[in-house]
This record gives sequence, structure tokens and C-alpha cells, in this order.
Amino acid sequence: MTEGSVTADPGLASALLAAIEAELPAATVLRHQIHREPDLGGFEERTAALIAEALGDPDAPWVTQGRLVRIPAGRGPDETHVAVRTELDALPLTEETGAPWASVNGAMHACGHDVHMAGLVAFGQAVRAVGGPRPVLAVLQPREESSPSGALDVVSSAELAAVPVGAFVAVHLHASLPPGTIAVQGGPVNASSDALTVTIEGRPAHAAYPHMGRDPIVAAAATVMALQHLVSRRMDPMRPTVVTVGTLQAGTAGNAIPGSAVLTGTLRAFNEDDRDLLHATVTETAELTARSYGCQATVSIHRGEPVLHNDPQLALATATWLTRLGLDPGGDMRSCGADDFSYYNAKYRSLMCFAGTGEDVVPGLHHPAFLPPDEAIFDVARAMLAGYLGACDLLAGP
Ligand SMILES: [Zn+2]
Repeated sequence: MTEGSVTADPGLASALLAAIEAELPAATVLRHQIHREPDLGGFEERTAALIAEALGDPDAPWVTQGRLVRIPAGRGPDETHVAVRTELDALPLTEETGAPWASVNGAMHACGHDVHMAGLVAFGQAVRAVGGPRPVLAVLQPREESSPSGALDVVSSAELAAVPVGAFVAVHLHASLPPGTIAVQGGPVNASSDALTVTIEGRPAHAAYPHMGRDPIVAAAATVMALQHLVSRRMDPMRPTVVTVGTLQAGTAGNAIPGSAVLTGTLRAFNEDDRDLLHATVTETAELTARSYGCQATVSIHRGEPVLHNDPQLALATATWLTRLGLDPGGDMRSCGADDFSYYNAKYRSLMCFAGTGEDVVPGLHHPAFLPPDEAIFDVARAMLAGYLGACDLLAGP
């Protein structure tokens, strides 16, 4: 650290930590309010307005349904911001937590985004009150759970381009880690995610005269099985990939062979070469399998989120601050899940941290009974602070 630079120091970190603790009661009330009245992806304006106001800037600029809130707390001359993202959207689930502040509107914060928002407000308000090495850009992002990706809209917006950003940080709860444990590894931590659609055209016929038709259901079933060989036989076993067929639709009558079948699924990979290879082999396998049944397959692959790579230096710098702030940075969390945070990652130095909720305390993400405790707000806010201070250290240079 250079004297007089905008590097973080332990005294400032303590002051920020105390300010976060002072913000927790209000952040908890806010969490319950957001949880009780969740918004689905594409309809987050009310939630975004609530968070922008809680962060002290009700007039913050909009990016589609989201907001960008600047917290101009920088102590140094450099106005390069550290961006911290929260997602705004809930899932279309009927809540089964039994909490007094449970949602009753058919949507539910079952992915912890209510806790992320409350944590960001506690962190952001602490920086606003105490100051920090650099200004913060609080990114209130819509549509993390739905398509089109909110991150893609934010990252390509003029509003974001107008703010100098040196690093992006996000924190996501995860039930496979113990409470107080944060996974903060460098390198790839989430997979790329691409949507697969295979349409198989056959020839309809009476069910008792199969030789008169070309059965797309049998071809589709064979295609599903053939696709399952790709990960085990065509991909490098040292690098994870996933092929999952999630829907298979065909036919309307038990005594008729339909004209077509459609299957949809998801393809996951941890690097771009594997991603391209998977696309090519899926396409080839589906087309050739269908042809061997006298049918014709049309394969469509929609490229979604890229691989999420954590910046190794930012991960290391953040881990140091996590320890100082009373959290355990020893968590191990890489998964073939995907998060549209990877769109920021493709453009900025960035870091996704996973914060433990404890799997024996609550069921996992996207479960209708997922209810992380209010204490998780403090963990998320501290992890955001650690990411912010780590980014400030890196941006200050050697
Ligand atoms: Zn989520």
C-alpha cells in the first residue's frame, strides 16, 4: 500500500464494518418488506425504486427496470468506481416458508435476492456515511432469472458506459456452504449456459400401421439417449460439461403416431473450446440419430451466459479482507450453474463470491421453503465490503 494513495486501510475497514452493523436493523426491515412484495423479472420497477431510495438516491438513472446508484464517497482524486451488483427479481413460485412476512402474490424471493438487496443497502449506506477509498456504483439489475438477461442490458447501456468502473463484485447466497463461509476462488466458478431445441420431423400414421409413418417419438427417445454419451465419450473428463434434456413433447393421442417431436434442454461448459465442441457434437448426434429413424432433426442452440471467471488477483485481495472482517474465505464452490453476472465478467475485472446459508438450516435455492436467516444480510454486506476493499487495493496499484 502506498501512503496517500486510495488504498483501503484497516482503520477505515473497521469504521465501515461498524457502520454496516448500525445499518442492519433497517436493512432487516427492508428485507422483510421486499420479501413480502416481490416482483417478477421484467416488472421490478417498484423494487428498484425502493432500493434506490434506501441507498439515498431516489433519482438514480434507470436502465430498463433497474437502476444505477452512484455513491460518491471516494476520498482520493481517482473517480474510478467499484461496481457492486444485486439482482432485483423473484421467481414464479408459491411460497411455503410460513414466515410472517411471506409473499402472497404468487412470486417468491427463493434465490436470496432479497438478502442480496438488503446487504447491498447496508454496505452502500455504510460507504455513504463513512466514505471509502473509491466511489461505489450500486447496480440494481433486473431479470437475472428470466430472459432476456438484465445483465446484458445493463452492460451494454449508455448509463453504465458513462461511469468509470474499475471492477465488478457480486455476492450470491448458497446453501451448500456453512454460514459465515465465503467461497472466493479465482478462475471459472460458473458454467456457460446455452439453450438447446431439437425439432424432429417424422411422418404421421395410425398407431397400428407404424410402417406407414416415420415415428418421431422413437427418434426423439433415441436422440435423448445418444446425447447422453457426449459428455462421457466426446468431452475431456478433466473438464466438466453438462447435457440435460428437460422437456420432450410429442403427440396428442395414444393410438396415433404424431408428425413431430420437440425436445429442449441446456448445455453447460467451463471453457469456450468445450462449449463449441459440445454444440457441434450435439448437432451432429441429433441430426444423424434422427436420420437413422427416417426422420429429420433441426437443431437450434441459443447462446446464453458465458463462463463466469473470477479474477484471481481480485479473489486473493478479497479473501484477505474477508478474514479481517470475521468471515471464513475457505469455501469451495464451483458449479455448472450459471449467472448472468458473467456478462460483466466478460468486460470488467470481476468477482462473484458465494456466501453460505448452511444446507441443514434451509433447503436449497429455488425451493419454495428456502428462507435464509436475517443474519445472512450481515454476511452478504461484509462480503461486498471485502470485495470492494480488495478491488480498491488492486486499483491503487503496487
Ligand atoms: Zn440468484
